[in-house]
Amino acid sequence: MTRSIIPTLTDYEVWFVTGSQNLYGEETLRQVAEQSQEIARALGEANDIPVTVKWIPVLKDSESIRRLALDANAQDNVVGIIAWMHTFSPAKMWITGLDLLRKPLLHLHTQANVALPWSEIDFDFMNLNQAAHGDREFGYIQTRLGVARKTVVGHVSNPAVTAKVGTWTRAAAGWAAVHELKLARFGDNMRFVAVTEGDKTEAELQFGVQVNTWGVNDLVEVVDAQTEADIDSLVAEYEERYSVVPQLRRGGDRAESLRYGARIELGLRSFLEAGNFGAFTTSFEDLGGLRQLPGLAVQRLMADGYGFGAEGDWKTALLVRAAKVMGAGLPGGASLMEDYTYHLEPGNELILGAHMLEVCPSLTTAKPTLEVHPLGIGGREDPVRLVFDTDAGPAVVVALSDMRDRFRLVANVVEVVPLPEPLPKLPVARAVWKPQPDFATSAAAWLTAGAAHHTVMSTAVGIDVFEDFAEIAKNELVVIDENTTLREFARELRWNQAYYRLARGL
Ligand code: MN
Repeated sequence: MTRSIIPTLTDYEVWFVTGSQNLYGEETLRQVAEQSQEIARALGEANDIPVTVKWIPVLKDSESIRRLALDANAQDNVVGIIAWMHTFSPAKMWITGLDLLRKPLLHLHTQANVALPWSEIDFDFMNLNQAAHGDREFGYIQTRLGVARKTVVGHVSNPAVTAKVGTWTRAAAGWAAVHELKLARFGDNMRFVAVTEGDKTEAELQFGVQVNTWGVNDLVEVVDAQTEADIDSLVAEYEERYSVVPQLRRGGDRAESLRYGARIELGLRSFLEAGNFGAFTTSFEDLGGLRQLPGLAVQRLMADGYGFGAEGDWKTALLVRAAKVMGAGLPGGASLMEDYTYHLEPGNELILGAHMLEVCPSLTTAKPTLEVHPLGIGGREDPVRLVFDTDAGPAVVVALSDMRDRFRLVANVVEVVPLPEPLPKLPVARAVWKPQPDFATSAAAWLTAGAAHHTVMSTAVGIDVFEDFAEIAKNELVVIDENTTLREFARELRWNQAYYRLARGL
């Protein structure tokens, strides 16, 4: 039985629009329509473009462009527009439409043909195949209007081109998902913690997410109402999917702990489903009548696509949800992660990341073990949790900080490595990684940027998807990767402070 709330990306559409004008006459416009349909079809068939590409009849005047923008805005399943000027489309015709457009825009600077048919070229050919200057006219008006967009250059038969378009469609899908996101906080922020705080009202304007708080005992009521029969079948599912330690199995001396863990999962899931929530937070300081801190339940809900942040951290919950949608259908996963402790051997520095309990099993392809251990924090019964090692491979960690007048995204490109040694006494799921460009630069840059200790770790999508997401959001993203130097990074932060203040206006 699937309970996943990760959308099927083919349910989302991007519209492929081609600009032209009536000046060309019937014959040329017929060819424009035919060839643009071929481009749209090639995009639609590309394996790395996960959404549905819909061809829109050629736009030839201001009114049809305005109508197109309004129609796209009105459709929830349309996550973006791809625009191409096969011929020359005088760009004043685009002013009203671009000004009205509220969906992400990708400018595809392409051409119908790969090679020039040198010996055949006449002026009809030149008239038809003039994206080289038609798209320059379009680039000008987009820049003049300050339209945020992604520009991709090249023929659609080039896999590098469709890969870039595909990356952008994933970011656009993530953007759509955070705009329909309702996020439930059970309890407030961990007392006295700064970085997990933030302006929830501003976040709704910036990202579209609705963040609201429910008393944890509203949840407890639903948890307590779950039936023994439903708990029986969920426990049976656990025993099938995980290596359950003997003491938690049916008949084991801690079996009741697992039954209570299942009760929390059932209650939490039904609360989230009833409210149509796609993300949530918990707080170990505010557990009301819950007997355990939710561990297993949170891990499994994340695996089903829910965003999650611990200690009331709704900003990370929003990032986890976005990463779940952006990575839909890809190998790997996404999870709340926390930089926990370091291995400081010179030249082989490593970061050990984990959380008290809540790391998503989508980060492993191995079978997790289901265990119970005391938790020295929170003062409740021992919580059940899944324990596993994150698969080795490339990953990215991303944090969202509230800088008072705006939000800042900070990302680090990292490499998850195999555990150097087993961790037999560490009773939580974990990841060990090597940050780019090196540990000292990465950590100093992270601290200089004021980035959080909570992140989303994604092993399904990389930095390029987050870059497109930030561009669509018109939100600052500073990237720490193989090219980062501290001197340049500090300058970028300083310039960005001025830029984002100016870009916002008064
Ligand atoms: Mn934490």
